[in-house]
Amino acid sequence: MSEAPILRDTARSKGRDALQKNIQAALALAEAIRSTLGPKGLDKLLIDDDGRTLVTNDGVTVLETAKVEHPVAKMMINASSAQDRVAKDGTTSTVILAGEMLQNAWQLILQGIHPSTIARGFRKAEQYALKSLEEISLQASDAMQKTVVKTSLAGKGHSSMQETIADISLRAVKMIIDENVEIIDPTKIKLISQTGGRVEESSLIQGLMLPKKRISSQMVKEIADGKILLIDGGLEQRGVKGDLKLNVTDTGVLDSFRQQERIMLKSQVDKLVKNGVNVLACKEGIDDDIRDYLVKNGIQAFRRVSRSDLNMLARACSATLVNSINSSRSEDAGDFKSSRNISLDGKDFWVVEAIGKAATIIAKGSTVDIIGEVERCFDDSLGVSVQLLENGQIVCGGGASYVALARRLRRYAETMPGREQLAVEAYADAIEVIIRVLAENAGIDPISSLIDVVAEQTNLNSDSIGINLTTGKPDDMLEIGVLEPKGIIKQALIGATEVSISILRIDDVLWAKQDIEAPVPPQSDM
Ligand code: ADP
Ligand code: MG
Repeated sequence: MSEAPILRDTARSKGRDALQKNIQAALALAEAIRSTLGPKGLDKLLIDDDGRTLVTNDGVTVLETAKVEHPVAKMMINASSAQDRVAKDGTTSTVILAGEMLQNAWQLILQGIHPSTIARGFRKAEQYALKSLEEISLQASDAMQKTVVKTSLAGKGHSSMQETIADISLRAVKMIIDENVEIIDPTKIKLISQTGGRVEESSLIQGLMLPKKRISSQMVKEIADGKILLIDGGLEQRGVKGDLKLNVTDTGVLDSFRQQERIMLKSQVDKLVKNGVNVLACKEGIDDDIRDYLVKNGIQAFRRVSRSDLNMLARACSATLVNSINSSRSEDAGDFKSSRNISLDGKDFWVVEAIGKAATIIAKGSTVDIIGEVERCFDDSLGVSVQLLENGQIVCGGGASYVALARRLRRYAETMPGREQLAVEAYADAIEVIIRVLAENAGIDPISSLIDVVAEQTNLNSDSIGINLTTGKPDDMLEIGVLEPKGIIKQALIGATEVSISILRIDDVLWAKQDIEAPVPPQSDM
């Protein structure tokens, strides 16, 4: 049968051939970031088109920076990005898990099992694993909190850097907790980074701190309990717009035109005073002409405040961002507890404290490269702190939970019909990959590490035995303090299963572009 005309210019691969190519692409990607996993994982040096460099240990950063064209590899990257959005941490694990699931699926396909049977088995295995995850999770005590956050930083920077970042992150998240709402909103935390200084000199401030100076030093420096108005525009004289020509016949005309404009600006300031507003922040400019009048009325004003900072202020102070003072209503203004102008290391900052709560982290690092990695560390540890303080459910790291789930999955598999049973077993084998890679990266034998951990868990009937990467022996993760939020593992399992199943379901690939090369496969036996 001839190809449909519409597909004539399209590269096409079908059936098992398509699946094999897709799995190869997925494996190549997992292989690329494998060496970054865990506390002993190595960093990657990334260089972009312009020669800019980036040193990172963060899986999702590596993947998002790499220019990957293969559509299946992109699906894997999307899974990692989704993990980053939902759980912040566990981005490398997700991709490694998906790669291993697909590799094991391929072995079953070679034995003649249909991909859709495998997909069905994987889905059942996932559901069972998620249910079992609830059984093996425990509630974190206050004393465990910092340990959990530090685990998320393992492999990133040195230990005193991890200590500082974990400590600041936890305190920052505690500052913004709103007792009336279950969800913690991490966007209430602002991160300011400064080069120069050591990471350990990073600090935390209650309230929002913006690198801004009030427009006149004659303005009051500090105001307590007041009202703030946020303008998505400016307080400026209107320029003459468009083709309008002003035919000035008398010098007084222009003056009176300006005079009129000034009166209008003044009337806007009068409106602020009437509404009880004593702090004004504008996205655009504020005319110098009006400055003295603002000072006279006791108003603290800031110009060229970025949109994202205005949004943060709006949330913290429960204010509504308005287009102009003229269109504002008195209820659009928000409340603050204090608005202060301070100077720190010779730089000017504006600090706003409000009921809506906000925190600012001032992250420090000696060079641009270090500060970049410090920011990524804060991102992870803030995400983990939020999860931890939201529900407090944790599980053991160091591969312990994956082995505990795999043990349960194997028992579950025995209750299933033949082919699906094989798929559930393949899934159980796949999730044990984490322990193997952790060991591999620490220079420990991966196979015996896994065997020892499984044996020890079975002997002691314990779910908390994982691999101690320092001794190379199985150890109780509760005792050595390798703990992580349940949400990270949960999301990693969901994300990895989802992307593996989607890839298994593809049996036809149509490429409009003919020149896309599949990445080189890591395994030659496929
Ligand atoms: P991801 O991007 O998936 O979070 P990481 O490089 O952060 O990857 O590694 C996370 C893994 O490292 C988790 O499985 C965690 O349990 C494990 N891990 C962290 N610290 C230790 C440790 N001290 N001993 C053993 N495993 C650890
Ligand atoms: Mg991590």
